[in-house]
Formats: sequence, C-alpha cells, structure tokens
Amino acid sequence: MSSPSFFEGNSLAARDAKSLIHSYTNLSQHEKEGPLIIEKGKGIHVFDDSGKEYIEGLAGLWCTSFGFGEQELINAAIEQMQKLPYYHSFASKSTEPGIRLAEKLLDIAPVEFSKAFFVNSGSEANDTVVKLVWYYNNALGRPKKKKIIARMKGYHGVTVAAASMTGLPPLHNDFDLPIQGILHTSCPHYYRFGKDGESEEEFASRMADELEQLILSEGPDTVAAFIAEPIMGAGGVIVPPATYFEKIQAVLKKYDVLMIADEVICGFGRTGQMWGSQTFHIKPDILSCAKALSSAYLPIAAVMVSEDIFRGMVSQSEKHGAFAHGYTYSGHPVPAAVAMRTMELMEERNILEHVRNVSPRFLNRFAALADHPLVGEVRSCGLIGAVELVADKKTKRSFDPKHKAGHLAYLAMQDEGVISRAVAGDNMALCPPLIITESEIDEMFDRFERGLDKAAAMADKENWR
Ligand code: PMP
Repeated sequence: MSSPSFFEGNSLAARDAKSLIHSYTNLSQHEKEGPLIIEKGKGIHVFDDSGKEYIEGLAGLWCTSFGFGEQELINAAIEQMQKLPYYHSFASKSTEPGIRLAEKLLDIAPVEFSKAFFVNSGSEANDTVVKLVWYYNNALGRPKKKKIIARMKGYHGVTVAAASMTGLPPLHNDFDLPIQGILHTSCPHYYRFGKDGESEEEFASRMADELEQLILSEGPDTVAAFIAEPIMGAGGVIVPPATYFEKIQAVLKKYDVLMIADEVICGFGRTGQMWGSQTFHIKPDILSCAKALSSAYLPIAAVMVSEDIFRGMVSQSEKHGAFAHGYTYSGHPVPAAVAMRTMELMEERNILEHVRNVSPRFLNRFAALADHPLVGEVRSCGLIGAVELVADKKTKRSFDPKHKAGHLAYLAMQDEGVISRAVAGDNMALCPPLIITESEIDEMFDRFERGLDKAAAMADKENWR
C-alpha cells in the first residue's frame, strides 16, 4: 500500500499522522486525508498553517464564547499562574478563585442551588452527577432508587457513565455500553418523530406519556433521575417541542425523580438567556455546565446541586467519612480565575443583550435556508442552529450514509472558509462565538450557503438521491 503524500517528509501533517490519535475522527479516513492544522485565532476567526482564514462557525466545540485571543482571559490566567499555579480542594483545602467562582455560579444559577462542585470537563461533570444521585439516594436509605433515564440522541459525554447516558449508537456499540441502570426514552424531535396530524403540543404530551410508562414499567422506586440538555446539541441541534419540559417535569415530580439539566452547551448565553433552563422553563435539581464557563480557554466544568441533595450528602458523609469523590484538578485555581473573568466579561460587555440583539439576524439567515434543495428542516434558537440535509424534501428521506453527505458538505464549507460540523448524521450545525456581529453573521452564512450549494451540485452530479 503506498503512503499518502502527507506522510512524506517532516511536515506537521506527516508528524500528526505518525504520532496522534484523533478524537471523534474516522481514523482510516484521517490516514488518507490528514489533519487541518490550526495555527492561530483572532475574534471569530482561526487560521491554518498555510495562512487560510476560517470563520469558526462552531466556536471550536460549541465553547469559545469570547472567540480567540481575548486578552482579558489571557491576563487572568497569567496573573493566577504567577500567584498560585496549582492547588487542590481535597481535605478541606481551598483557594480564592474556586470560592469566588462557586459564589458567582450560585448567584447566576437558574434556580436556587446550594453548592457548586468543580471538575475538568462536561463528561466528568455528568459522571459526577450520576455518582451524586446514587450517593444521595443511599443517604436517604433508598438503595433501589438508582436508575437514570436519558434520551435517545442526547449527548452527555464520553466517560463510562456519561457515554452510557448519551443516546447515540456509536458511543455504545463497540464500547460495551451502556452500563446497567441507564435507560433511554424517546427523542423529542417533532420533524422526525411527530405523527401525521399530531400537533407539537400533542407530540410533547406523547413524549411525557412515554416517559411515565417507562417509569411505571421499571418501578418508580427504582428510578432516580432524568437528564436532558435544554437543546440537544451533538444529537443534531434538536430544539424541544412547545410544552415539552413542562409536561416532562410534571411526570418527574409525580414519581419523585430528580431533574438534571445538562447545560454544557446551552449554559452562559447560548440561547439568549444565561441558561437554556430559563429559555425552556426547566427547574433542575442538579445542573452540569462546562465549555463557555471559561470560554474554553482552560478546562473547567461544574455541577450545582440543590440544598436537599447537599444535605443528603452531608448526612452520608457524617455516617461514612469523607465524600470520596473529586479530581486532582477539581477547582484548579488557574481555570477558576479564567472562568471568573469570563463571567465578569459577560456582564461588563452585556453579552446576553448582545446575543438577543444579533440573534434575529442569525435566525432569519437560518430560516431562509428552508428553501434550499438539500435542506429538510431548519432548527435554531439564540445563537445555535442546524440544517438537516435530506435526499427528498417531500418524504424527508435521509441520504444513504454511504454517500457521507454531511461530511462532504462540511468539507465544502471548510473550503469556503467556514468551519461547521456534521452532527448525528447530516445535520450541519452553527454555534459561533457569542461575540459575533451582524455583518460577521452574514459573512458566515454566505460561506455556509456556498458550501451547501457545492454539496447540492455534488449530490446531483453523483446521483445520490
Ligand atoms: N454534555 C453536553 C451537552 C455536551 O455537548 C458535551 C460535549 N460536547 C458534553 C456533555 C461533554 O463535555 P466534554 O467533551 O467536555 O467532556
């Protein structure tokens, strides 16, 4: 087998192929196509090692809310590095950045929470959530009440419990997941799963009925919690149907099942309010957040819990000693200081108001794509959205996966200078840095559309339909 050309010599691309395993990458395709090496970034733009400029239409991985090169965040890291580059939170140790950030999160939370716990990633946050739910129910003397219900197409991360809760087959199939006690209920995607003649509200009622039936068939005394993203991100940017969360929460309340909001993508302004929970009327008992917490400049994530849950934890710890959970880097002072500065900048620069001001342009440009020959559905809210590519608009038939329509559209868009991503099949997502301006939104969509047109031309030429 002859080696692809980028394997030759000592280029960064060749060294990449020889040394790195890439996350969420088709490894055999990568061996043929090689990497895109990003060298620097400024504002909403990144530049590759040939100097080509791109609009980062996905804010990296839905995370760099302040874009690239925000000097205030860089300064916050440097200052904290110089003062105290590391300390931990085991055995009652603490640092000021961790304390300040916990206070800030509790202050801006969508409901009254009692305490915040720090971790390094969204996955760790959600694994922590599972363990907290189990710990809490042990504290209450309910050892059987441990099952957690997640949703098909939900995304909660890749660690063992988080990947189990994620409802996407590639995360389960070859990894021997999900673990026991994690169940999945239906995905509330009206366009795909609504029945003929069923209204959005009726569909939401059916989703809530299904959840109730699942709880009853498992036994309410065995079901501890339900986890959901306000908007499903990696599952295809699925915006919940009207009245969905109100109806779901009524069921949870009836059977004493905790509501967990995974705000890893929606948190910190993405939907035009601080939290997706506020946009979709969710009253969580536990909340996980990450990504835009530090604008992704350093890894940090958090879990917040209600007073009830925290009191349960204290009583369990009283009986059995230390709360035996936590990471070397839980509450690391440097990412905590950067996250604190991120939260301050959100206020100083009125980021929520900015998102609400520019969002109509974003939503209108998305809406205009509904007529595109490849687009089956447009879904958007705040500054997040996606178009679902279909082979047949009328019947909603998807492309045969062998054509890799989403991947090819993504490459065409990249060629046009906008980085998007095909998520959960052929859903082309946009989730730009929150600082994006109206004219930048226009430029992003112009490039996105040119990429879509190229993909449509390819679909016609290759007879994919
Ligand atoms: N939850 C949600 C909603 C996410 O979108 C993600 C990451 N995309 C995660 C959890 C996992 O976060 P991480 O990749 O930081 O582990």
